[in-house]
Amino acid sequence: MIELGLAGAVAAPGLARAAAPALPPLPEDKKLGYALVGLGKLSQGQLVPGLKAARGAKLTALVSGDKAKATRIAEANGIAADAIYDYAGFDRIANDARIDIVYIVLPNSMHAEYTIRALKAGKHVLCEKPMATSAADCEAMIAAARNADRKLMIAYRCHYEPHNLEAMRRIRSGQYGKPKLVVTDMSRQSTLSDPSDAWRLDAKLSGGGALADMGVYGINGARYLLNEEPVEVRAWAQTDRSDPRFREVEDLIAWQFKFPSGAIANGSTSFGVVGAMRFDVYCERGRLRGDPGAYYGGNRLDVFGGPGQGPVELPDIDQFAREMDWMADVVRGTVPLVTPGEEGLQDVRLIEAILQSVAKGGATVKTDWGYKRAFDPGAVVPVLPA
Ligand code: NAD
Repeated sequence: MIELGLAGAVAAPGLARAAAPALPPLPEDKKLGYALVGLGKLSQGQLVPGLKAARGAKLTALVSGDKAKATRIAEANGIAADAIYDYAGFDRIANDARIDIVYIVLPNSMHAEYTIRALKAGKHVLCEKPMATSAADCEAMIAAARNADRKLMIAYRCHYEPHNLEAMRRIRSGQYGKPKLVVTDMSRQSTLSDPSDAWRLDAKLSGGGALADMGVYGINGARYLLNEEPVEVRAWAQTDRSDPRFREVEDLIAWQFKFPSGAIANGSTSFGVVGAMRFDVYCERGRLRGDPGAYYGGNRLDVFGGPGQGPVELPDIDQFAREMDWMADVVRGTVPLVTPGEEGLQDVRLIEAILQSVAKGGATVKTDWGYKRAFDPGAVVPVLPA
């Protein structure tokens, strides 16, 4: 997705970038082994390098339908030829002791099947967002993890990203007063001729176009910035059906969440406007802005009003390395599972509620089904890696 193109290219003018803190890596034999399932843009661009930078994890296996591509990536990264699997032979990973964690990086509609197969093979699973294309699939994935007694984590990288964590920490401190309004905008132009976008524009494979792909960052972001769950949603869409990209999925969707505290979140997402991944949190005495707030790199946090006005200086870190290290530590039992399957399910249920409201012309849809997150990331994930 566009995060790739914009990642790192988004310079933050006037904000000095400190170097990321150097973490002592664990010895090779103590690192947990990851199998990457699906060798597309995210795997090649971010996850292979992320596993090189990880402190306690390493790449040990590849799963792909393209033997030549997998062999090329394996040779470039010191992966043994017998650690390359195809989709038909995937279940043989059960006998491969080099694999501790399986990272599902496939089109969204394939997450459920490969997560469940990996769990049945006795492996822990890190699964990309959105968790699946239906709440029923998410529930089956959660049940499979429970039955297998293995960990299932959803790859919500912003829960491990310093600017987002610092925003959460400041909001929770109360120093700006009550947060009353969150605004999130997640968008980019999509390109039907790009295979990586073609499946995102296919309703069945993506589960909802821009909303499932990018809007989920805003849904998830409003929830973790406020640390509460929406009880009502209203949403509207604006889609030009003559645009070949939007024959099956909506283009622009705007929604409003109402939270129990009285706070409101305004969210938008589009695959047909210029790129943005940003948030604003309006509190009684200050406003926190992350613009950009959810790119791979170059994110900012700016404060307007209240204490500490101006840019907040934080280093760029490799979010993917940190997230994969966090998962490895979850498996080791040394850190809490802050983004479990239940977090993914909550966002997929909210995606479904947004699409229901769109279908009913903006009617209010109740979302007060009683979900509460197990851990506040703002309380348990340090702003910077230790
Ligand atoms: P991509 O299209 O670049 O890669 C998908 C891979 O799956 C390709 O190698 C493709 O060959 C393979 N594949 C197997 N079966 C397929 C099928 N039936 N149709 C299409 N492709 C098939 O996509 P990507 O950008 O790497 O995204 C993969 C997953 O990662 C998605 O769930 C996406 O939401 C997620 N993602 C997350 C982030 C993030 O920042 N966390 C960023 C990008 C993508």
